[in-house]
Amino acid sequence: MNGSKDQPRSAESEVIVVGGGPAGLMAAGRAAELGAKTALVEKNLHLGVKLLLTGGGRCNVTNSAGLKEFVAAFGGNGKFLYRAFTVFSNKRLVEFLGARHVPVRTDPDGKIFPADDKARSVLTALDGYLRRHNAEVSFGRKVTGILTREGKEVEGVRLADGGVLRAKKVVVAAGGLSYPKTGSTGDGYALARKMGHTITALRPGLTALESDEPFIKDLQGLPLRNVTIRILVNGKTAAAEDGDLMFTHFGVSGPKLLVLSGIASDALEVAGNKVELSLDLMPGLKPEELAAEIQKYFSENGAKIFSSYLKAALPDSLARVFGERCGVDRSRQCACITGPERKKIASLLGDFRIHITRPRPIQEATVTRGGISLDEVDPRTMESRLVKGLYFCGEVLDLDGITGGFNLQEAFSTGYLAGQCAAEALK
Ligand SMILES: Cc1cc2nc3c(=O)[nH]c(=O)nc-3n(C[C@H](O)[C@H](O)[C@H](O)COP(=O)(O)OP(=O)(O)OC[C@H]3O[C@@H](n4cnc5c(N)ncnc54)[C@H](O)[C@@H]3O)c2cc1C
Repeated sequence: MNGSKDQPRSAESEVIVVGGGPAGLMAAGRAAELGAKTALVEKNLHLGVKLLLTGGGRCNVTNSAGLKEFVAAFGGNGKFLYRAFTVFSNKRLVEFLGARHVPVRTDPDGKIFPADDKARSVLTALDGYLRRHNAEVSFGRKVTGILTREGKEVEGVRLADGGVLRAKKVVVAAGGLSYPKTGSTGDGYALARKMGHTITALRPGLTALESDEPFIKDLQGLPLRNVTIRILVNGKTAAAEDGDLMFTHFGVSGPKLLVLSGIASDALEVAGNKVELSLDLMPGLKPEELAAEIQKYFSENGAKIFSSYLKAALPDSLARVFGERCGVDRSRQCACITGPERKKIASLLGDFRIHITRPRPIQEATVTRGGISLDEVDPRTMESRLVKGLYFCGEVLDLDGITGGFNLQEAFSTGYLAGQCAAEALK
């Protein structure tokens, strides 16, 4: 569904949904399904522009995890989602898609994708949901304000072209700040702020991290497989993950790093904090085992030079950087390397530090950290506690989950609950 010819047939609706991403589409579909006269307003000329980019176009639509894991995936704010995840769970989403000819496939790690690996199929299912229940959709129309009766109760929305659309309920599903070319330019925060809502600090979530280490450029493009990645804040471990890491021209990236990036971003917000990555390049080996292994190699290969050990243990570019960092001349014969030097080599292999300066800009982040304060939204309905008839769902809320399909499920679950409660409140 796209283009401008599908403008609302009237300027009067019962429910208006702002934003045609996963949260807004689900909200509009559910409200219309329950019989509410529903209009969705999207400022792009197409629906679900960001949805089509998800999972590299394959759309990691949800996860097979249980309710507790889903809640835990959203950190301290996760408990806000109990109701939404209960009302519209991952199981319900899979059934919803299946009923619309989108079977899914579950990967061994729990990630769920449409079986044809096409985000487009998910969008088509949502589009069909709206059409089936006669929700009106208008494109290329930007909502710039919420109309209220003395700031207390919703009356409709104001459009950038000066037009006004009247409605008893308004659901704001305008997304966050990441990937602004998709339409997520933070409008939802401005709309909520004008209604008196608090917006918590907006930061990049699930993003790569920048480093000022001079060797980063030498390592650009290098993937490290199955390393232990720790985030250290002022020298203390704040979080850790095992997985692959990728060096880039600016710093480090990779799926597990993205998961850790929120903790790093938060720590970097505090002036004076020192944030480092500690890589265990030999995971699975305790420090004493590693030291013993090095000693064994050096005594069995005493005539070889140190760089031969490094080449066997590490990728070439990292072996060079490592050699410089540990301060042991790579042309030294293994037999001549002293006990303290061996200790230094072992400790650096288990704790290779990279200084982190900042997260990548929010425009490049997968999700926005921060958003509309959850204290001012009722988790049972998604309705504002400040303005009657105003609902929020999706990324615009102060919710960001780890990678694995959790963020889309959050958008679908909160969207479903908001659409349902908005429609039921009309009765
Ligand atoms: C590259 C990338 C890959 C991702 N992959 C995954 C993945 O595989 N799995 C996963 O779970 N999550 C993934 N995510 C995160 C996921 O895309 C978001 O969590 C999700 O799209 C949020 O949905 P939403 O409906 O709240 O917001 P959005 O998808 O951002 O939709 C908001 C919509 O509102 C519209 N809008 C904004 N302002 C206005 C206005 N004033 N008037 C009218 N319309 C407006 C926008 O144009 C947009 O269409 C990915 C994100 C990115 C950037």
